[in-house]
Amino acid sequence: MENAISQVTSGWRRLSSLLVQGGRPEIVPTEGGFVNAPVSRGSTVLFPSLAAMKAQGQRSHEHELIYGAMGTPVQHELERVIAQIEGGSHSQVVSSGLAACTLPLLAFLNTGDHLLLPDSVYGPTRRFADTMLARLGIETTYYPPLADAGTLEGLMRERTRVVFAESPGSHTFEVQDVPMLSRVAHAHGAILMLDNTWGIGIFRPFLHGVDISIQALTKYPAGHSDVIAGAVTVDDETLWRTLRDSAIQIGQLAGADECWLTLRGLRSMAVRLERQAESALVVAHWLRGRPEVARVLHPAFDECPGHAFWLRDFEGASSLFGVELRSDISVAAMQDMIDALAMFGIGASWGGYESLVLPTTGGVRRSIPGGMPEGPSFRLHIGLENPDDLIADLEGGLEVLRASSAG
Ligand SMILES: *Cc1c(COP(=O)(O)O)cnc(C)c1O
Repeated sequence: MENAISQVTSGWRRLSSLLVQGGRPEIVPTEGGFVNAPVSRGSTVLFPSLAAMKAQGQRSHEHELIYGAMGTPVQHELERVIAQIEGGSHSQVVSSGLAACTLPLLAFLNTGDHLLLPDSVYGPTRRFADTMLARLGIETTYYPPLADAGTLEGLMRERTRVVFAESPGSHTFEVQDVPMLSRVAHAHGAILMLDNTWGIGIFRPFLHGVDISIQALTKYPAGHSDVIAGAVTVDDETLWRTLRDSAIQIGQLAGADECWLTLRGLRSMAVRLERQAESALVVAHWLRGRPEVARVLHPAFDECPGHAFWLRDFEGASSLFGVELRSDISVAAMQDMIDALAMFGIGASWGGYESLVLPTTGGVRRSIPGGMPEGPSFRLHIGLENPDDLIADLEGGLEVLRASSAG
């Protein structure tokens, strides 16, 4: 267990100093002042002259203060630290994690282009592709998240401009072969976008060939279930100019309070995640030994699809994983179990300090047959509670499940 725990927590040790120091304009100030930058709300920026206003207006790609809709100082500080965590050159903070998915798709796809989405993709990203992108004349093909290079090659078209990945899938936890996806995309002149929300800090996208990395800052970075925000990060000047221009054209930003709260959350993200990852592993191990459970879809376990890619490419595991029950257990019995849990909240989202549960069966759609777990399944987010208490709660839930199955 010691080894297993260090394997799921190593990445955050590496990041902890960066999370404390990253993005801060002055660590040791020239004059006395607060540790944290103030919340900088504002719309109008005043300039000493028309010439100064014009000169500053030229600097819209430089995280500079121009007009409130183009970002505030606290948003720019958040952008600097997110870019550092992801290992990229520039980050654009946006209003939600979903906006972080839709903005780069709009920025880099044109009418007549073709998009490849993994069948495991976050539901609202799927809906966006199926509705708005389709309306704009952009066609989407869903690919199996664990498709090999040959299969993927076969799906690439002349007008395939974007290959999208989400690793692991946030409900079904297939870990994808991102370097391979990158090789195939680049060989066809396409770019690779990755929704890296699960892998924040433990999957370094630009070392694995990703062109555009997406984060729902709502999750672990904010960490307290009180913020909606997102970020898109690149490591290339040309991509940055297109992305930044698109963000300005659409009017994408996040409010100063959201940015400030996210920065506050980020400063303690390494310790939260170290603890949550460890607790998640403990709970996952316990569930794995239960007779009602067929598989625990935790990327650190070898029964998780794509586990070998996790071993090869990740520096840890976060605290969100799936559980597949035996296929002779009914969905209704699983629902009774979920309703009976006292410490796990029933609700969307994850990455906060508190534990959550959500059914996967009935809540997730697939285009390709056979991509879903066979038995009733649910997803757990492990928070900062004592894992012994969480296990006791799950034990009670499984008792309800057994009673429900018998009755
Ligand atoms: C939650 C989530 C999003 C969307 O984030 P919001 O801030 O809730 O819009 C995107 N991708 C993944 C993988 C998520 O889990």
